[in-house]
Amino acid sequence: MLRHYKTVNNQIPQTEDEWKGVLTPEQYGVLREKGTERAFTGEYWNHHEPGAYVCAGCGAELFTSDAKFDSGCGWPSFYEALDKSKVEEHIDNSHGMRRIEVTCAACGGHLGHVFPDGPQPTGLRYCINSASLGFKAK
Ligand code: FE
Repeated sequence: MLRHYKTVNNQIPQTEDEWKGVLTPEQYGVLREKGTERAFTGEYWNHHEPGAYVCAGCGAELFTSDAKFDSGCGWPSFYEALDKSKVEEHIDNSHGMRRIEVTCAACGGHLGHVFPDGPQPTGLRYCINSASLGFKAK
């Protein structure tokens, strides 16, 4: 499914009110409030078409189907980002855990977390909320 990105005058929204105007409540809750969708409920955990996964906030291409793998965790999982520069990592000590949060480098939106239990060649598992993503078929 190709989503179309609403923006404010073709700019990335600058205020939370602007973000609320362009995102669905579910997207807002994940991207801007760092929420997590329930496992096995999102649009892409079981999605296998070839193409690019883009940020639902700003449209930046973040991951490709080539690096997607079936993790069994109920969220879309990738062993690497399209490019290291596309995502940023932050220490997240919330919920009594020490995790690495992943955000979109272009708009700062929360995407999910990266864990060191993925497959080769990287050994990483980018565990990403479907609500943070859109998809462009190849
Ligand atoms: Fe973004």
